[in-house]
Amino acid sequence: MLKIKNVTKYYGKQKAVDNLNFEVSEGEIFGLLGINGAGKTTTFRMITGLLDKTEGSITFNGKNIDYNTTNEIGFLTEERSLLTKLTVLEQAKFYGGLKGLNENQINERLDYLLEKLEIKEYKTRKIKELSKGNQQKVQFIMSILNKPKLLILDEPFSGLDPINIELFKNLIMELKNEGTSIIFSSHRMDHVEYFCDALVILVKGKTVLQGNLKEIKDNFRKKNIIIEGLVDINDLKKIEGVINVSENKGTYTVQIENNDIVENVFKYITKIKKLTKFVVEEPTLNEIFIEKVGESYEK
Ligand code: ATP
Repeated sequence: MLKIKNVTKYYGKQKAVDNLNFEVSEGEIFGLLGINGAGKTTTFRMITGLLDKTEGSITFNGKNIDYNTTNEIGFLTEERSLLTKLTVLEQAKFYGGLKGLNENQINERLDYLLEKLEIKEYKTRKIKELSKGNQQKVQFIMSILNKPKLLILDEPFSGLDPINIELFKNLIMELKNEGTSIIFSSHRMDHVEYFCDALVILVKGKTVLQGNLKEIKDNFRKKNIIIEGLVDINDLKKIEGVINVSENKGTYTVQIENNDIVENVFKYITKIKKLTKFVVEEPTLNEIFIEKVGESYEK
C-alpha cells in the first residue's frame, strides 16, 4: 500500500503541495486530479523520489521509497523521455536492465506488451521513426516492463485515438487485477470515472475534495433528470428546486437541488406529450469537478 502522509512541498517560498494525505491499496486505481499547476506532477515526482518533499512521509508497503524500491515502481511521465535513436528492443534492454530484468525476461515481456498494444512489427524499428501515438505506446510499455507493484500514470491518454485508448485501458485493468496499485492523473473526467476507485482533487496544492468515487457522488446532492418529449424549457425552469435546464438534440437535462425535487418535475412531466424518456441520474464527475474547483476559487 502507498501512504502519503501530511506531505507538503515548497519551491522556494511557493507552496506547490499543501498537507496532502491519501492511500492507495493493492489493486486500487487512484485519481490525482486538478487543473494545470495544481501540484500533480510535483506529487508524482515526490512519490518516485525524483524530488524531495519539504514535509511529511511517503511509504510503499511500509518502506520509504528509495533506490532499493524503484524496481517495484513504474512511472509514465507527461514529458516523453525515450532514447529515440534506439530501436524499441534496444530501449527495452536498456530500461529493463536498469530495473533489474535479464534479457530473457525483457524479451518475453516486451513481446507480450507489443502484441497487446498491436505494434509487434515495430520491435526492431528506431523509436524516432514511429508516430507520436506509437511512441507513447512504447513509453507506456517501458513503464510497465517490470510489472510494477506501484504504477504512476501522468496523463496516459493524451494524444491517443479512441482505439488506442481502449488498448491502454485493457492493459491498465490487467495490471489492476494482478494487484498493482495505480495512481493516475487526467483532465478527462470520463476516463477518471471509468477507472478510479477513489480520488483527490487539488487546487493550488490544497485538497478540495477527497474520497471514494461512489461516496463523492452520493454526497453531492444535486442530480440530473434526463427527459425526452415535448417539454417547454421555461416551464421546467419555473419548477421549485430546478437549478438549470439545458437542451441538446431534443434531450433535456434538468439539474435539480436534490432527490426530493424529482417529484415536482415528474408532476409536470405527466402533463406533456410524446414523453419517451425520464431518467434520474447521478451527477457526472465533470460537473462535480467544475463545481468544486470553481467554489475553491471563489473562497
Ligand atoms: P499540469 O496539469 O499543468 O501538469 P500540475 O498539477 O502537474 O500541472 P505542477 O507541475 O506540480 O502542477 O506545479 C505545481 C506548482 O508548482 C505550479 O504553480 C508550478 O508553477 C510550480 N512548480 C512546478 N515545478 C517547479 C519548479 N521546478 N520550480 C518552481 N516552481 C515549480
